[in-house]
Amino acid sequence: MSSRWEVIVIGGGPGGALAAKKCAEKGLSTLLLEKKKMPRDKCCSGMVMGTWIQDIIKKEFGEYPDDMKNDTENLNGYAVHVPGEPVQDLNIHTPAIWRKILDTWMCKKAEEQGAELRDSMRVTSVKEIDGKCIVIVKKDGEQIELESEFVIGTDGANSVVRRSLFPDFKPKRLIGYRECYETRINMPENRFNIISPLNRFPIFFIHYKKNYMLLEGMALEGMLNETIENARQYLIQNHEMKSDIKPLWRDGCATHVMYKELSTKVFRPAKGNILIGGDAAGMNIPVTGEGLGASIKNGYDAAIAVIESKKSGKPAEEIYLNAIDELLEKYHDIFTYGLRVGNALKKKDYKEYSKSLAESWEYALTIL
Ligand SMILES: Cc1cc2nc3c(=O)[nH]c(=O)nc-3n(C[C@H](O)[C@H](O)[C@H](O)COP(=O)(O)OP(=O)(O)OC[C@H]3O[C@@H](n4cnc5c(N)ncnc54)[C@H](O)[C@@H]3O)c2cc1C
Repeated sequence: MSSRWEVIVIGGGPGGALAAKKCAEKGLSTLLLEKKKMPRDKCCSGMVMGTWIQDIIKKEFGEYPDDMKNDTENLNGYAVHVPGEPVQDLNIHTPAIWRKILDTWMCKKAEEQGAELRDSMRVTSVKEIDGKCIVIVKKDGEQIELESEFVIGTDGANSVVRRSLFPDFKPKRLIGYRECYETRINMPENRFNIISPLNRFPIFFIHYKKNYMLLEGMALEGMLNETIENARQYLIQNHEMKSDIKPLWRDGCATHVMYKELSTKVFRPAKGNILIGGDAAGMNIPVTGEGLGASIKNGYDAAIAVIESKKSGKPAEEIYLNAIDELLEKYHDIFTYGLRVGNALKKKDYKEYSKSLAESWEYALTIL
């Protein structure tokens, strides 16, 4: 294997797959490194939210293949459930795809354009010295040193790229969880159900994929089991979930909250020729936590920055951070909704709370 590349993309999620695809199709020698053996799963509802992302997936990757078609058709909208208030419906069709299938398809498309995908390759550090990026990788216990002109770090929430570049930056960590049951409860089918049991514990989500019901949400560190148990008890008491039912499987992942540091520019997700995107840069959309669109947008912008930088000599960091700032600008208004939701909850105005929660989701779905 060559150890020198024009671009090394780290992380085979949607952000990395699109970045690698775009660089490779422009003729840049591109290596896509993935820590896990592919196909790999990701703790995620897999909802492709908003028209921008749906359109760019079609444009860049093509029509969904047959094994995804069913998942792209079933979810016809969202339902916000607040106790004592009418259910708020948002009729916005949204594909909900298993990430294992989606991400594998996207990586394959990057390979078809000439990117070299290497899985089971865990990056342990990244640095830039005299315009050269050095990427250290562990594979089967062996350490390998790779070199590139540019690095695009789309290596998820626990990003090694971010920690290598900004070792002192320690954003707030939350734990995402997902439990899969073979059951149905008294909750609308074909809806992504957003359930807020008011101030007792965090919002959580219920949706169905074929025979399966998925219970998903976020928990504070150290509160994972309690948070999931509270959600289960709420469903048992209010939505006819069987009390003795056990999940077929559960998984989870870390996620970080970085809006404040991003919007105040305390944290800038790029340095020289090393660009960071998606969950690695904390770019999830506030309120919904949607991150597929954000990672794809960042992956796209990072690739464009690399391509332009190679052409014009303009620093990749500068081009990329301009695109990041444009996106953050779009995030700004969502905070106004966030405040409205928070204030209504504080005042125990549950009618307004339910309405503003639904409206904040509706607005967030139009950001990308
Ligand atoms: C419970 C839950 C539900 C969610 N539901 C949705 C949803 O419905 N819709 C939505 O848009 N968003 C959702 N999100 C958010 C979404 O999952 C992420 O924002 C999205 O996956 C980010 O994509 P990414 O490409 O940045 O990173 P990831 O998808 O996390 O990909 C990062 C990749 O990098 C690899 N990697 C990590 N470290 C290394 C390393 N050191 N070396 C090499 N490779 C490495 C990982 O194995 C992974 O393959 C959800 C999140 C959670 C927790």
